[in-house]
Amino acid sequence: MEDNMDPKKLAAAKFSNQRFLATVYADEISKDLYQAMKSDTFLKNLKDTSEKFYSKELAKGARALFEFMDAAGPDTYRQLRFEYADLFLNAGENPVLPYESFYADREPTLYGEPLFEMREILRKHGLHKDPEFLEPEDHISVEFDFLAEMNRREEAGDQSAIEARIDFGRRHMAWRTEFCAVLHSADKSGFYKALAELTLGYLFVAHLASVPPAEASLNDPAYDLITLGELLKTLPLSKESFLLKPGTIAPTPIQSIPTHCYACGALCGMTAKVKDGVLMSTGGLQGDIKGGGRLCPKGAAAKHHVYSAYRLKSPLIKEDGRFRKASWDEALDKVVSDFKAFDPTKIGYMRGNDFANWVHEALFDHLGCPKTTHRPMCDNANRMANEHNLNDKRPWINYQEADYILHFGM
Ligand code: SF4
Repeated sequence: MEDNMDPKKLAAAKFSNQRFLATVYADEISKDLYQAMKSDTFLKNLKDTSEKFYSKELAKGARALFEFMDAAGPDTYRQLRFEYADLFLNAGENPVLPYESFYADREPTLYGEPLFEMREILRKHGLHKDPEFLEPEDHISVEFDFLAEMNRREEAGDQSAIEARIDFGRRHMAWRTEFCAVLHSADKSGFYKALAELTLGYLFVAHLASVPPAEASLNDPAYDLITLGELLKTLPLSKESFLLKPGTIAPTPIQSIPTHCYACGALCGMTAKVKDGVLMSTGGLQGDIKGGGRLCPKGAAAKHHVYSAYRLKSPLIKEDGRFRKASWDEALDKVVSDFKAFDPTKIGYMRGNDFANWVHEALFDHLGCPKTTHRPMCDNANRMANEHNLNDKRPWINYQEADYILHFGM
């Protein structure tokens, strides 16, 4: 047991554990990782390991993962891709939101205060998020990857990394445990349930292991962390930080950017307040005759549309009634090939309010598709009447100087 207390050995084990957790939540499980988890050797080790843990939660998670992987058949990997899209790409009815901002603010709007805190923490440690990873800095995988990096530094002898990871682990633990509970209840496959149990077990044990020796017995949690690390380090996980890059990116100053709202066709003038590249709020644009320097509630809520946690995050392709993640190339190639397979006169094109109208309209004109616009369902009668009576489809209504304002059909 004494050997388990070697801090470097413990840091190396935690590195493997956190790198594994960062990997499984960053994206779909890669085919390589899946096959390695399905190999006879890994399954045997997983089963043996699950019987060694002191922590009941870790044992339960490891056992559940073993049972899932052991029973996996030829179609399981494909089914896991569907489940990932449902849970993490907002394709399903019950998505799981792996962002600290969501749990901090209790609003399904991303890019909240935890994002700025994470950016500050990364700066302090000379890091920044890899721009290729499109999720924000308060994504659960970035947080696990940061902890993995701190453990890597600790193993290399950097004492300041110890305090950093203990402090970070404690302050950012609560939401990750809640995330595990949400994931556990949302998953229908069994795989992510098992991961949620394993993650929860890991968080509890890692927390116990971070308590100073005077306050707790470290042997059991340290043993569990090392046992888990020994198992997970056999998997094909990146040895380097894969979501974080070295180097500090300085925050950009707060800006007030004049623009316009695009939530409806009125296109009111708008002022966008932007902090470090993040839209913080929107307000009216002084001098704009349409909005009179004000926005309606829809325009004022622009931040919640832009950063809605429920937006689609990737192209999706439907197969057997379920969606899976696709690359842009694959999705666009499919659109082209499916279009070619159809008689274009049987494809209807409906145009909306969109600045890129002319691009897609030209395409559908070229194909010879019948077309319409959303206007018969929207304000076409209004526009035609205005044009006929006032020679202007959208006349600016002078409410200030009107003697009477009559609304019909309200
Ligand atoms: S502020 Fe309201 S009325 Fe003006 S463009 Fe936006 S949604 Fe339309």
